[in-house]
Amino acid sequence: MEKRQIKFYAKGSNAAAIHALPGHFATSNSHINYYIDITSLKTRINEAKEVAKVLASRFTSHITVDTIVCMDGTEVIGAFLSEEMERRNILSTINQHKTVYVVSPEFNSNSQMIFRDNIKPAIAGKHVLLLLATTTTGATIQRALECVRYYGGNAVGVASVFSTLEEIEGFPIESVFEEDDIPGYAAYQPGNCPFCQKGHKLDAMVNGFGYSKL
Ligand SMILES: [Zn+2]
Repeated sequence: MEKRQIKFYAKGSNAAAIHALPGHFATSNSHINYYIDITSLKTRINEAKEVAKVLASRFTSHITVDTIVCMDGTEVIGAFLSEEMERRNILSTINQHKTVYVVSPEFNSNSQMIFRDNIKPAIAGKHVLLLLATTTTGATIQRALECVRYYGGNAVGVASVFSTLEEIEGFPIESVFEEDDIPGYAAYQPGNCPFCQKGHKLDAMVNGFGYSKL
């Protein structure tokens, strides 16, 4: 299925591209007609750095970030993003070490996002920026924002490499790729999916980490 991939470049950069694979895919909350593959942006240093640069440019220096919470395997981008933000004087103010934490949540057996005791100090009382790979319905962001609040964190922003949404709970979602970068992209509620209605089987289950063929 990899051969049918179509490459799309970011508006803000010729060095960052995503691969989109047409088909019938299920995310945890929706069915989509393109699987958005950002693997190389997450794993290749040059590309991760470029994505971080574009994302950092979307934030103005009046935002305060102490901690970047990386979802969907975005830690490499998260590390470069912290560096880029520092360069742009987006600095942590309340933490005494004057540096940014880059952490990832765990998920328990109920799929709830959790932070272990050793990570809690990076969340409690901190200005937290969420970083995601792809955002379709925003349900993952909502759960993550809720979790950050449970742990006493103050969510200040959301960044997603690809996003079909512009804002959630009053936060703008800063992204490198938007829905209109991928002509024809569509997301459906599982019960209202035209492919399912025509009896088409799913090609794969997908999430921010990748896909598993069915
Ligand atoms: Zn479907």
